[in-house]
Amino acid sequence: MEFSALALAFEKIENAPGRLEMARLLSSLFSSAASAQECRQVAYMVQGSIAPAFEGLDLGVGERFAIAAVALCSGAGNEKVEERYKKEGDLGSVAQTLLGKKSQMALSSEKLTLVGVYSAFVRIAKTGGAGSQQMKIKALAQLLNCASPLEAKYIVRFALATLRLGVGEPTILDALVQFQISRVMRNAHTLKIDGDVEVENLQLALVEKEGEEKAADFQKISYEVKMGEGDAGKFASTLAEEKGKSKKRMELEAVAKSRFGDVKFIIEEAAQKEGSFLLHAIFTIGEKKKMREEYERAFNLCSDIGEVAAAVYDKPQEMREFSMKVFSPVRPALAERLGTAQEIIEKIGECAVEGKYDGLRMQVHRSDARVEIFSRKQEKMTHMFPEIVAAARQLPAKEFILEGEALAYNAGEDKYYSFQQTIQRKRKHGIAGKSEELPLHLFAFDILYLDGKEYTYEEYSARRNILEKILNGNKTIVPSKRIIAKTAQQLEAFFQSCINGGLEGIIAKDLKQPYVAGARKFAWIKLKRSYGALADSIDVVICGYYLGKGQRTEFAFGGLLTAVYNEESGKFETIAKIGSGFTEKEMGSFEEMLHKITIKEKPAGLESELVPYFWVKLKYVISVTADEITLSPMHTCGKGKGEDAKGYALRFPRMVELRIDKGPSEATTVSEIEKMFKMQKK
Ligand code: ATP
Repeated sequence: MEFSALALAFEKIENAPGRLEMARLLSSLFSSAASAQECRQVAYMVQGSIAPAFEGLDLGVGERFAIAAVALCSGAGNEKVEERYKKEGDLGSVAQTLLGKKSQMALSSEKLTLVGVYSAFVRIAKTGGAGSQQMKIKALAQLLNCASPLEAKYIVRFALATLRLGVGEPTILDALVQFQISRVMRNAHTLKIDGDVEVENLQLALVEKEGEEKAADFQKISYEVKMGEGDAGKFASTLAEEKGKSKKRMELEAVAKSRFGDVKFIIEEAAQKEGSFLLHAIFTIGEKKKMREEYERAFNLCSDIGEVAAAVYDKPQEMREFSMKVFSPVRPALAERLGTAQEIIEKIGECAVEGKYDGLRMQVHRSDARVEIFSRKQEKMTHMFPEIVAAARQLPAKEFILEGEALAYNAGEDKYYSFQQTIQRKRKHGIAGKSEELPLHLFAFDILYLDGKEYTYEEYSARRNILEKILNGNKTIVPSKRIIAKTAQQLEAFFQSCINGGLEGIIAKDLKQPYVAGARKFAWIKLKRSYGALADSIDVVICGYYLGKGQRTEFAFGGLLTAVYNEESGKFETIAKIGSGFTEKEMGSFEEMLHKITIKEKPAGLESELVPYFWVKLKYVISVTADEITLSPMHTCGKGKGEDAKGYALRFPRMVELRIDKGPSEATTVSEIEKMFKMQKK
């Protein structure tokens, strides 16, 4: 694929009105990929990355160096580039304009390819050590020398990590479904109709829609179908028979078969025209949903959208069998909330009840001597926890993936340290595993994989048995404490003992449920110590900040504008302005931390009617508590359309802590807020 095709698609995606259109544009990009490798690269690059987050491969091109590269290849000089950049605020557009001026002169005739640009970025990312920045500038300038102005715009934004097209994994998964459906249809050789009639030797061609709008919804699509004479006769009589059934609308079930797999659809209309037919096909929600679930499951098992894109390209018929691999982090199963022990027992009956440790969630992967530890947001953090690595090596297994919550625990005094304390002590003592001073324990609560067998499908009880067996009396990795509760009283008593012992609450687990990666289900239900009317604290993304008045002016920090995540639209919606809960020291450090990520415009993907003093990149997540969830016209969280529409808002929100273990897409979702709003109204 030429890189120009990617740049053009980026431009369209940037201007697309919504997620549906983005997915459509992206699916045609996947269609023009010539290999699984190209599909993988498209999936990464459209998100502004070159590898999954857990690889930790950052481009690391600083602003100053990108300016130097633009100056070098446009011949404009550093100062001029810098001046324009200050004025325009986007170095990508500056590069586009400056290279546009140069384009009449001798630009290199060598065309950039996707693979070429991708490999150059990987080389840039891997260049380290002395003189590496100079080498990065040179490599970037080389790319820009061969780039058209539009290509230059996106190359520069990519290098600076300011691409921000607003395409998230859900949109990429939608696009892969569309890509697969249209690939099957374009290559279909056989149509099976109404379960028995088979029409073979087909040639299907997509009939382009006049209006973009229709094509974007990807519901109804027209195809021109060419077939041999005999088959055409058979097909015509099936159609005539169906029409003769005096239904209002024709609804013939059909399956298109191709070498890439099958797709079910409904023929809603079909008209004969000379040697061919014009079909109006409807791809039912059910069919798309099934495929979407398969792809999402694959993504949840590997946390690598490029891997999923490559698998869809290469082995679309094996997506159902996609399995987890050691060293690819699995997206975590999450817990639902209920307000009381009674509600939990009513919901899932007899259940396991485990202590809810307020530590750091870890997924530990091991194969022979190699051990890797991943965070809740799938980042590698192995080097920070040598004592857990050493303990994992002692377990009697060759390969496993297990999960637990790590925190400092003093077994002698039976004392747990909170997540904050654990991290502070860790910082103080450094990484070099001072286990006597910092007795870090991993309270293991699940096992997903062991010696070649995936355990996520097994029910909780079976997984727990296996887990306890392999922990085998290990001193550092120990099973989470738990009871089996038959009644609300038993559950409540255990909950109280956990709270008294310094834990956050409990997690009740359905004994019969499998481990559902990446989903918040009632298989796990959390009950935490009281947060007032709220069932839980809420994790919000910081999207801007205000300057302080009065006492606080000295810190130039007056509060935060925050948002939650809308999973349906992939956007962030504001829910609270937070001005309290900060110590003076925290205010100072927030100001310093946020100052580094201020941006001139509202972040892409944020819906906000409020404008803070500074916008910031969507990066940090904080936990907040509040008196209650209310309705307010000011916030966009869950807000409908119309003048009187109101969104959800937090009444008297207060900051609890910074959640370094969460990224923006792990923030509380709009649908969770809706549920919590209903819960508090009871
Ligand atoms: P929270 O902010 O309440 O920790 P979360 O959004 O990180 O929530 P949830 O799925 O809502 O995640 O709650 C479960 C979390 O509780 C897990 O992510 C894990 O970090 C932590 N946890 C502590 N103890 C356990 C346990 N015994 N079983 C499962 N999860 C546990």
